[in-house]
Amino acid sequence: SEPRPASLNKMVEDVIQMMSHQFRKRGIRLEIHLDDDLPEIPLDVERIKQVLVNLLMNARQALNGRGVVRITTRRDGDAAEVRVWDNGPGIDPAIRDKIFDPFFSTKDTGEGTGLGLSVSYGIVQDHGGEISVESEPGRWTEFVVRVPLERNLT
Ligand code: ADP
Ligand code: MG
Repeated sequence: SEPRPASLNKMVEDVIQMMSHQFRKRGIRLEIHLDDDLPEIPLDVERIKQVLVNLLMNARQALNGRGVVRITTRRDGDAAEVRVWDNGPGIDPAIRDKIFDPFFSTKDTGEGTGLGLSVSYGIVQDHGGEISVESEPGRWTEFVVRVPLERNLT
Protein backbone atom coordinates (compact mmCIF):
# COMPACT_ATOMS: atom_id res chain seq x y z
CA SER A 1 0.00 0.00 0.00
CA GLU A 2 0.97 3.64 -0.40
CA PRO A 3 2.82 5.56 2.30
CA ARG A 4 0.60 8.12 4.01
CA PRO A 5 1.22 10.45 6.94
CA ALA A 6 1.01 8.37 10.09
CA SER A 7 2.04 8.50 13.72
CA LEU A 8 4.94 6.25 14.54
CA ASN A 9 4.08 6.54 18.24
CA LYS A 10 0.55 5.31 17.58
CA MET A 11 1.95 2.36 15.63
CA VAL A 12 4.27 1.45 18.49
CA GLU A 13 1.32 1.64 20.89
CA ASP A 14 -0.83 -0.57 18.64
CA VAL A 15 1.88 -3.20 18.30
CA ILE A 16 2.64 -3.17 22.03
CA GLN A 17 -1.04 -3.60 22.81
CA MET A 18 -1.10 -6.58 20.47
CA MET A 19 2.02 -8.19 21.96
CA SER A 20 2.18 -7.11 25.61
CA HIS A 21 0.55 -10.28 26.89
CA GLN A 22 3.25 -12.55 25.47
CA PHE A 23 5.90 -10.42 27.20
CA ARG A 24 4.09 -10.21 30.50
CA LYS A 25 3.40 -13.92 30.76
CA ARG A 26 7.15 -14.58 30.42
CA GLY A 27 8.08 -12.04 33.05
CA ILE A 28 9.65 -9.64 30.56
CA ARG A 29 9.42 -5.97 31.47
CA LEU A 30 8.44 -3.68 28.62
CA GLU A 31 9.62 -0.08 28.80
CA ILE A 32 8.14 2.38 26.34
CA HIS A 33 9.50 5.86 25.76
CA LEU A 34 7.67 7.86 23.10
CA ASP A 35 8.84 11.24 21.84
CA ASP A 36 5.77 13.50 21.91
CA ASP A 37 7.32 15.88 19.39
CA LEU A 38 7.51 13.32 16.62
CA PRO A 39 5.55 14.61 13.62
CA GLU A 40 3.48 12.37 11.38
CA ILE A 41 5.60 10.92 8.60
CA PRO A 42 4.83 9.09 5.35
CA LEU A 43 4.64 5.40 6.24
CA ASP A 44 3.23 2.20 4.89
CA VAL A 45 1.58 1.50 8.22
CA GLU A 46 1.04 -2.24 7.99
CA ARG A 47 4.57 -2.93 6.78
CA ILE A 48 6.24 -0.73 9.39
CA LYS A 49 4.16 -2.47 12.04
CA GLN A 50 5.53 -5.73 10.67
CA VAL A 51 9.06 -4.41 11.25
CA LEU A 52 8.19 -3.51 14.85
CA VAL A 53 6.62 -6.92 15.43
CA ASN A 54 9.70 -8.67 14.00
CA LEU A 55 12.10 -6.70 16.22
CA LEU A 56 9.99 -7.18 19.35
CA MET A 57 9.56 -10.89 18.65
CA ASN A 58 13.32 -11.27 18.25
CA ALA A 59 13.92 -9.43 21.52
CA ARG A 60 11.40 -11.68 23.28
CA GLN A 61 12.95 -14.83 21.85
CA ALA A 62 16.46 -13.63 22.70
CA LEU A 63 15.46 -13.15 26.32
CA ASN A 64 13.82 -16.53 26.59
CA GLY A 65 12.36 -15.57 29.94
CA ARG A 66 12.98 -12.70 32.34
CA GLY A 67 14.56 -9.52 31.13
CA VAL A 68 13.87 -6.04 29.85
CA VAL A 69 12.79 -4.85 26.42
CA ARG A 70 12.84 -1.12 25.81
CA ILE A 71 11.24 0.54 22.82
CA THR A 72 11.99 4.19 22.18
CA THR A 73 10.92 6.72 19.57
CA ARG A 74 12.90 9.85 18.96
CA ARG A 75 13.32 12.60 16.45
CA ASP A 76 16.90 12.91 15.23
CA GLY A 77 17.34 15.78 12.79
CA ASP A 78 15.46 15.02 9.59
CA ALA A 79 14.66 11.45 10.62
CA ALA A 80 12.41 9.58 13.02
CA GLU A 81 14.02 6.79 14.97
CA VAL A 82 12.68 3.70 16.69
CA ARG A 83 15.02 1.71 18.90
CA VAL A 84 14.33 -1.75 20.24
CA TRP A 85 16.72 -2.72 23.04
CA ASP A 86 16.93 -5.92 25.03
CA ASN A 87 19.27 -7.15 27.74
CA GLY A 88 19.56 -10.61 26.21
CA PRO A 89 22.66 -12.54 25.13
CA GLY A 90 23.67 -10.11 22.40
CA ILE A 91 24.97 -10.93 18.94
CA ASP A 92 28.23 -12.73 18.33
CA PRO A 93 30.43 -10.49 16.12
CA ALA A 94 31.06 -13.56 13.94
CA ILE A 95 27.44 -13.58 12.73
CA ARG A 96 26.71 -9.87 12.84
CA ASP A 97 27.08 -9.43 9.09
CA LYS A 98 24.75 -12.34 8.36
CA ILE A 99 21.69 -11.60 10.45
CA PHE A 100 20.00 -9.50 7.74
CA ASP A 101 20.47 -12.26 5.14
CA PRO A 102 17.33 -14.13 4.06
CA PHE A 103 16.92 -17.47 5.90
CA PHE A 104 19.81 -16.82 8.28
CA SER A 105 18.73 -18.01 11.72
CA THR A 106 20.38 -19.37 14.85
CA LYS A 107 17.04 -20.66 16.13
CA ASP A 108 15.71 -24.19 16.13
CA THR A 109 13.39 -25.18 13.31
CA GLY A 110 9.88 -24.00 14.07
CA GLU A 111 11.02 -21.00 16.11
CA GLY A 112 12.34 -18.92 13.26
CA THR A 113 12.47 -18.83 9.50
CA GLY A 114 15.35 -16.41 9.34
CA LEU A 115 13.21 -14.03 7.29
CA GLY A 116 12.26 -11.45 9.91
CA LEU A 117 15.27 -9.19 9.62
CA SER A 118 15.72 -9.48 5.86
CA VAL A 119 12.07 -8.59 5.30
CA SER A 120 12.39 -5.74 7.78
CA TYR A 121 15.50 -4.49 6.02
CA GLY A 122 13.62 -4.34 2.72
CA ILE A 123 10.63 -2.54 4.23
CA VAL A 124 12.79 0.12 5.84
CA GLN A 125 14.78 0.56 2.61
CA ASP A 126 11.54 1.08 0.71
CA HIS A 127 10.86 3.99 3.06
CA GLY A 128 14.22 5.52 2.21
CA GLY A 129 15.42 4.64 5.68
CA GLU A 130 17.93 2.34 7.30
CA ILE A 131 18.06 -0.35 9.93
CA SER A 132 21.14 -1.14 11.96
CA VAL A 133 22.18 -3.06 15.02
CA GLU A 134 24.51 -2.57 17.93
CA SER A 135 25.26 -5.19 20.52
CA GLU A 136 27.49 -5.95 23.43
CA PRO A 137 27.75 -9.75 23.55
CA GLY A 138 26.56 -11.14 26.85
CA ARG A 139 24.83 -7.88 27.74
CA TRP A 140 22.47 -6.24 25.27
CA THR A 141 21.29 -5.75 21.69
CA GLU A 142 19.74 -2.67 20.12
CA PHE A 143 18.14 -2.38 16.69
CA VAL A 144 17.77 1.13 15.30
CA VAL A 145 15.27 1.97 12.57
CA ARG A 146 15.57 5.40 10.96
CA VAL A 147 13.00 6.79 8.55
CA PRO A 148 13.27 10.23 6.93
CA LEU A 149 10.61 12.76 7.98
CA GLU A 150 10.21 13.93 4.41
CA ARG A 151 9.88 11.51 1.57
CA ASN A 152 12.63 12.05 -1.00
CA LEU A 153 11.28 11.02 -4.36
CA THR A 154 13.82 8.96 -6.26
P1 ADP B 1 14.71 -15.59 13.07
O1 ADP B 1 14.16 -14.76 14.17
O2 ADP B 1 13.66 -16.35 12.36
O3 ADP B 1 15.88 -16.43 13.48
P2 ADP B 1 15.55 -13.04 12.01
O4 ADP B 1 15.85 -12.60 10.62
O5 ADP B 1 14.45 -12.34 12.71
O6 ADP B 1 15.27 -14.60 11.93
O7 ADP B 1 16.87 -12.94 12.89
C1 ADP B 1 18.06 -13.54 12.43
C2 ADP B 1 19.00 -13.88 13.56
O8 ADP B 1 19.48 -12.66 14.15
C3 ADP B 1 18.39 -14.65 14.72
O9 ADP B 1 18.30 -16.02 14.46
C4 ADP B 1 19.37 -14.32 15.85
O10 ADP B 1 20.54 -15.11 15.75
C5 ADP B 1 19.77 -12.88 15.52
N1 ADP B 1 19.02 -11.91 16.33
C6 ADP B 1 18.01 -11.13 15.92
N2 ADP B 1 17.55 -10.34 16.91
C7 ADP B 1 18.30 -10.62 18.00
C8 ADP B 1 18.33 -10.12 19.35
N3 ADP B 1 17.47 -9.18 19.78
N4 ADP B 1 19.27 -10.64 20.19
C9 ADP B 1 20.14 -11.59 19.76
N5 ADP B 1 20.17 -12.09 18.50
C10 ADP B 1 19.25 -11.61 17.63
MG1 MG C 1 12.86 -13.16 13.87
